[in-house]
Amino acid sequence: MFEITGVKMDLCNDPASKLLAYADIELDNCLVIHGLRIINNSGELYVAMPSRRITDHCFRCRGKNARVARWCNWCGADMGTHDNEQEMPGRLFFDVVHPINSDCRSRICGAVLAAYKREVDASHSSGAPGELLPSWPSAGAGLRPASG
Ligand SMILES: [Zn+2]
Repeated sequence: MFEITGVKMDLCNDPASKLLAYADIELDNCLVIHGLRIINNSGELYVAMPSRRITDHCFRCRGKNARVARWCNWCGADMGTHDNEQEMPGRLFFDVVHPINSDCRSRICGAVLAAYKREVDASHSSGAPGELLPSWPSAGAGLRPASG
């Protein structure tokens, strides 16, 4: 299993938003995954994996539009029919990167949430900008450290 060797945190600082922060994680000092999000789901913090908006093509001009679009951004046609609907019905986003087991998910979530808490604490005391921090929680939030 990989090590999470760094987490970069970008706090949103918008008390009205459910989106608390963006995070980038560094794996084994060699690969960075951008665009994880920390979301406040009714007081419960949740780490969302990087995702992309699913797009549909306009039936008239073939322009790409977000699935939520009611009208084509390119030609203004009614986007009532969505040609990807059969492939991924009802979905607006899909994960670009995602863990395939709960152990991996909990490692990523634990590291990101621990970095988030450190960042929030640091921003209260110093207002320092986010940096690449050592990521592994020392007193892990119910997590096992890497076994190698
Ligand atoms: Zn169009």
